[in-house]
This record gives sequence, structure tokens and C-alpha cells, in this order.
Amino acid sequence: LAGTKKEEKGKNIQVVVRCRPFNLTERKVNSYSVLECDCIRKEVAVRTGGINEKLGKKTYTFDMVFGPQAKQIDVYRSVVCPILDEVIMGYNCTIFAYGQTGTGKTFTMEGERSPDAEFTWDEDPLAGIIPRTLHQIFEKLSENGTEFSVKVSLLEIYNEELFDLLSPSLDVNERLQLFDDPRNKRGVIIKGLEEIAVHNKDEVYHILERGAAKRKTASTLMNAYSSRSHSVFSVTIHMKETTVDGEELVKIGKLNLVDLAGSENIGRSGAVDKRAREAGNINQSLLTLGRVITSLVERAPHIPYRESKLTRILQDSLGGRTKTSIIATVSPASINMEETLSTMEYAHRAK
Ligand code: ADP
Ligand code: MG
Repeated sequence: LAGTKKEEKGKNIQVVVRCRPFNLTERKVNSYSVLECDCIRKEVAVRTGGINEKLGKKTYTFDMVFGPQAKQIDVYRSVVCPILDEVIMGYNCTIFAYGQTGTGKTFTMEGERSPDAEFTWDEDPLAGIIPRTLHQIFEKLSENGTEFSVKVSLLEIYNEELFDLLSPSLDVNERLQLFDDPRNKRGVIIKGLEEIAVHNKDEVYHILERGAAKRKTASTLMNAYSSRSHSVFSVTIHMKETTVDGEELVKIGKLNLVDLAGSENIGRSGAVDKRAREAGNINQSLLTLGRVITSLVERAPHIPYRESKLTRILQDSLGGRTKTSIIATVSPASINMEETLSTMEYAHRAK
């Protein structure tokens, strides 16, 4: 039904799915695949009736679909490159990784190092979106002769509290406070957030290593920290261009790369699962993000940005003239089918 579909190009929110390969645990229990990824038709089919296809199959269409063979560079080229172009034009954009714990959110956002360490962090085939983006920013802007400066910050939200992973203080109990920006209706001020100027991509690597050490400390102090926290890495680029008639143009672009908390407590309806609610496991930021995205897609008059820390922080980068990409990560295995269906439903609502 081409032609009846909404114009895909100028779309502000896009949703893509990435399915990882089977892992050892899934193989050990002889779990079978319930997913069929059709990258050409951009469809994912979930076999809900088990091995027998006749018993049920649910098909979802997305903006892009990456199967288990997809490489980091494929995701970078198709999802991140066009967004980075927007950022360089001076817009704020956000890329989210959403999905059940263990499905590849961190693999997608940060990536990993190949075992024999023959590559630099940004040129490793396993490098994720963050190193590739930094590499490209410095490459592109040095090439076209723009005068520019780059700043990065890394904050995490756990239980609706904000932690600065780049602050010099080693005390992970120090929390950041959020205030409305009196000068900018859509902005917030994160008091004391460390924004570090970086002069080349390798500096970023060392800064992120420092952040990783702090994250490690946090995980020993806070219950299930790595699966329940949201990690927000932001890059701000200030650019100065001189036009042909000698006029100076200043542009500021920002890219937020967000590794979300595990989605395992969000039920298929998009609300908190009953058991999780009883256990007090409500991830306000993850729930509100879903509502904010649906409100934006439906062009609702009121967008509930204020209802969570994550959406308040990202308010100036969601909606309006910004681009957002949601990468929903899933496992192919039958043992994870319920979670995979929840992820599909959540992601599909954002379309
Ligand atoms: P999450 O952050 O969603 O909890 P991870 O990114 O830590 O999940 O991934 C869990 C495991 O799966 C890691 O060992 C990672 O190497 C592996 N993995 C995830 N996605 C892929 C992929 N697309 N290709 C290969 N391995 C992957
Ligand atoms: Mg992770």
C-alpha cells in the first residue's frame, strides 16, 4: 500500500529494531527462534504459537530492521549518519536504545573491544555508536574547515535521582539537581553537571573510562544499578562559519545517546507489570518516555515532559524540529518471547 503511507522522509521520530544473535544460555536450554527479520520489507514476525507457525504469528513493520547478522557499521550508517548531519546543521537530536536487559543496548550504544586489541576504540569493528560518532564529528568538521568546539557530559538516572559520572568527585552519592531554565521555556539547568571540553576523539575515550569506573562503584552501592539506570551521554557542538559575504554564523547542535534501563518491567499494555508494581519497581522515566513519545506521535496538545527526570532533561531534544531514533533491541529466542512482544508493542506505538 505504498503511497497511502505517511511521508517517510521528513519523519521526526523513527523506530528501528535490532535482533541480536542467540547467546550461550539460550542455546544451552535448546531455545528456538521465534523471530523472522525481513530487512527489505522492514518487518519483524514473532511466532507466538511456538514452532507451529499456524498457531499464530504477529507481524510488525518498522522504519528499519536489523537482523542478527547486522554489523555495528550497518547500524551506524543507516541510523546515526543522517542524525549526525542534522546535529551539524545545528539541531538537537536523540538516539535511544530500548529493550530487555541482555538484548544489546550497551553493545549498540557503546560497543565492545575485539579480544586481540588490534584496533583503536573508534575503529574496532565492534565499536558502537558513541565512539563512531565522536570519530565522525572530528573528521567531518576538521575536513570542511569549520571553527568548532565539542563538549561532552555523561549522567545517569537511577530511581529518579541524577548522578554525574564525569564529575571529579568520586562520591557517587552526590546527586545533581534540576531546575527550570528561566531564560528558556524548553530548557532545564542541571546544576553542577560537568561538561568537559574535548579536543580530539581520544580524549573522549579517557573521559569515558573515568565514567565507567564511577559506574562500577555505583553498581556495588545500588541494587541492580546497571539494568535499572538510564545513561545519557550528550555531545554539544558549537560551530562558527563565515558566509560568503563575511558574516559569522554560530550554530549549536546537540546529540544525546541514551542507553535506557531494561524494559523488563513494562508489560505489553505499556503500563507497569502488576508484579513489578507490587514490588515497587516502577521506572518512572521509562514509563514517561513512552507517554511523551506517543503524545508527540499523536500530536497531542500536552506533552508530559515534566513527569520524569529523563524527559525533563531531554525536553529540548524531543519534539519540535528535532530528530529522534529509537533502537529497540530484542532476543530471537523463544524463552524471551513475552519480553520481545512487549518491546515490539512499545516500539510500535512510537511509530
Ligand atoms: P543490554 O545492555 O541490553 O543489557 P548488552 O549490550 O550488555 O545488553 O548485551 C548482552 C550480551 O549480548 C553481550 O555479551 C553482547 O556482547 C551480546 N550482544 C548483544 N547484541 C549483540 C549483537 N548484535 N551481536 C553480537 N553480540 C551481541
Ligand atoms: Mg547494558
